[in-house]
Amino acid sequence: MSDEIRAAVIEKFNKPLNIRSFKRPKLSEGEVLVRISAAGVCGSDVHIWRGLDPRVSTPIIPGHEGVGVIDEIAGEKRDVFGRPLSAGDMVIWDRGVTCGRCEYCTIYKTPSLCPNRWTYGISKSCNEPPYLNGCYSEAIVLDSNTRIIKLEETVDPITLVPASCSGATSAHSFELRPPRIGESVLIFGPGPLGIFHIAFSREYGASEIIVIGGTKERLEMCRRFGATHI
Ligand SMILES: [Zn+2]
Ligand SMILES: [Zn+2]
Repeated sequence: MSDEIRAAVIEKFNKPLNIRSFKRPKLSEGEVLVRISAAGVCGSDVHIWRGLDPRVSTPIIPGHEGVGVIDEIAGEKRDVFGRPLSAGDMVIWDRGVTCGRCEYCTIYKTPSLCPNRWTYGISKSCNEPPYLNGCYSEAIVLDSNTRIIKLEETVDPITLVPASCSGATSAHSFELRPPRIGESVLIFGPGPLGIFHIAFSREYGASEIIVIGGTKERLEMCRRFGATHI
């Protein structure tokens, strides 16, 4: 990767994104520079662009869903399963970075409630070091607290991108209340969250998976993913 890294930046809400060049950053201990292979457009990105997300301040590199290839690591790094990471590995990561020290992180094991949680592409302006804080960029700097998962190279990054937002959100709801085998599941809305809910419901052995709302095309897609009633 060259010393110049280009990124799409929201300078002003509701205006076209600007392409800006950033200097290749010098990494601090534990940081990982990842070349972005694919980034998703989440519904939240549209809200962000419209200026409707109070967490966001401009200028910002949006994009909280991403898959990429490690370019450089400062120090030793392992993924969430303890596997060593190195340059060239394809990875996905938790879009939310938590402190790992507060009571929610350590005692309750509910890092989504960590008061220090921040999110790539949402919480940090590109004026804030290490500047490459979002996925609509040739590269992103992952903070040392980021939970990273190494991927099989056979996975298509475009297919996997939404797993880091709607996939993770759905997984969390199934952690809170997984369906028992044979139970029926009712899903409101056939968006990406709904689709992931169908897939998880099927994995957990739900008998009836009912989806309501949305367009005919989306509902047909739901059937392909395993919905039994649309
Ligand atoms: Zn999202
Ligand atoms: Zn915490």
